[in-house]
Amino acid sequence: MSLRDKLLNFLYTHRGFIKDPCRLPRHVEKKRQEVRHWAEEEILPVVEELDRRAKEEFPWEIVRKGAEIGLLTDLIPRTFGGGGRLLDFFRHGTLHGALIIEELSKVCPGVAVIFGAHMLGLLPILLSMDFKAGRRFLSRVTDAARSGKPELCAFAITEPAAGSDAEDTHGARRAKLLTYAKKKDGYYVLNGRKCFISNGSVASIITVFAATDKEKGIDSWTCFVVERGMKGFSVGRIEDKMGQRASPAAELIFEDVKVPSANRVGREGEGWKLNLLTLDTSRPPVGFIALGAAQHAVRKGLEYAEKEGLLRDRHVQHIFADMLMKIEAARTVVWRACSTFPPVSWLSATAKCFASDVAMDVCSRVVDFMGDEGVKVGNEVEKAFRDVKLTQIYEGTNQIQRLSFAEDYPGLNRKNKPFRVF
Ligand SMILES: Cc1cc2nc3c(=O)[nH]c(=O)nc-3n(C[C@H](O)[C@H](O)[C@H](O)COP(=O)(O)OP(=O)(O)OC[C@H]3O[C@@H](n4cnc5c(N)ncnc54)[C@H](O)[C@@H]3O)c2cc1C
Repeated sequence: MSLRDKLLNFLYTHRGFIKDPCRLPRHVEKKRQEVRHWAEEEILPVVEELDRRAKEEFPWEIVRKGAEIGLLTDLIPRTFGGGGRLLDFFRHGTLHGALIIEELSKVCPGVAVIFGAHMLGLLPILLSMDFKAGRRFLSRVTDAARSGKPELCAFAITEPAAGSDAEDTHGARRAKLLTYAKKKDGYYVLNGRKCFISNGSVASIITVFAATDKEKGIDSWTCFVVERGMKGFSVGRIEDKMGQRASPAAELIFEDVKVPSANRVGREGEGWKLNLLTLDTSRPPVGFIALGAAQHAVRKGLEYAEKEGLLRDRHVQHIFADMLMKIEAARTVVWRACSTFPPVSWLSATAKCFASDVAMDVCSRVVDFMGDEGVKVGNEVEKAFRDVKLTQIYEGTNQIQRLSFAEDYPGLNRKNKPFRVF
C-alpha cells in the first residue's frame, strides 16, 4: 500500500473521533473522567431527593467530596495554596473549571451551581490582583478545603431595585442602589440588602458590592468581603425556585455591619469595573451548565426512543440530529469564550445567551417528543427543563446579553468602529 493510500485510510478510519474542539491536557481529562464517574455513581442516585428536600437540607457531603477533588480550589493560584498556576487564566481562561462544571450539570445543574457560584465569589478577588485580599481570603479557602471543613464563597450584586441594572452599562446609571458602605476610621459601615444570592445562606466569604457615595452611585461601587458571623449580617428569605433547587438563593441583610478596611477588594470606586470583568469571565461557563443539562435531556430522549422502537424512524432521527447539531454549535462557541482571556464582552454574552437558548429549546423538544412521559414529575427530563430555564435569567437575562453584545460588538455601536471583518 502506498503512503498516500495509508494516509487516506488513516484519515478515513479516524474521522469522527473529535469529541471536543481541541485536546485537553492529560491531568484535566483525568479530572473530567473522575468527576463524571463521581457524579454518575454518587450524585445521580440522590438528585431527586436534593430537588425535593432543597429547603430542608444543604448537601455538605457533596461539597466536602468536591473539595477533596479540588473543585473549590483549582481556580486559586498555587501562591495561595490552590491548584492553579498564576498564568493559567491567560492561557486557557476558565475552560478547565467550566468543563468540570459541565460534567456536574449533566447530572444535576443545582449541584453544578453550588461550585459555580463559589468560583463566581472568588473571581473578584482573583481578578482584582489585590495580593493582600488574596492572602487573606484565598488562602483561607484553600486551608479550609484541605482541613475537610470546606468554606464556600458567594458573589452579591443583585439588589431588590437593581437586577439587570447592576449587570450592564446600559442600566447602570439609573440603578437604584440600596447598599451603602460609609467609611470610618479603619473600617466601613455597611447597610442594605442583596437578593437571590446563590450560596448566600451557606457561604463563609461573600464578595459584596456597595456604593461608598450616595451621589456618585455606581461610580463609587466598591467590592468588600463580608464574612459569615459578622455582627449585623444576617440571611433573610431563601427562595423557593422552580429549578436548580439544590443550590440555595438567599436574601442577605446588612445592618450596620462593621467591615474592616482590610476586607476591601481592590481600590475604592473600582467595583463597577471589577463587576463587569467578573461577569464577562463567568458568563461563558453558564453556557456549559445549560448545555450539560441539555445533553442529559437528549440522552434520556434517546433512551426513550430506543425503548419505544422509534429510533429507526427517519423523522425521529432528524429531530435528534437537529438538537445535537445545535448543542455541538453552542458547545464550540462556549468553548471558545471560556478559553478567551482577558474576556471579550460580546463573545461572553454570545456564549451565555446562545447556549442557554439552545439548551432551553432542546429540553422543550425532548419533553414534546416524550409526550406524557416527558412531563412526569421525577422524570429527569422534566427536571432538566426546569433547571435550564434559570440559565436564561441569572448573570444577566438573555435580553441583557443582547444589549451587552450590541454595546460591545465592533461596528454595532457608534463608539466601536469599524465593523468587525472576519
Ligand atoms: C437562580 C438565580 C440565582 C442567582 N444568583 C445570583 C448571585 O449569585 N448573585 C447575584 O448578585 N445575583 C444573582 N441572581 C440575580 C440575577 O442575576 C437577576 O435576577 C437577574 O439579573 C435579573 O434581574 P431582576 O430579577 O431584577 O430582573 P429585572 O432587571 O427587573 O428584569 C425584568 C425583565 O426586564 C428585562 N429588562 C430589564 N432591563 C432591560 C432592558 N434595558 N432592555 C430589555 N429588557 C430589559 C429583563 O431581561 C427581564 O426579562 C440570581 C438569580 C437567579 C434566578
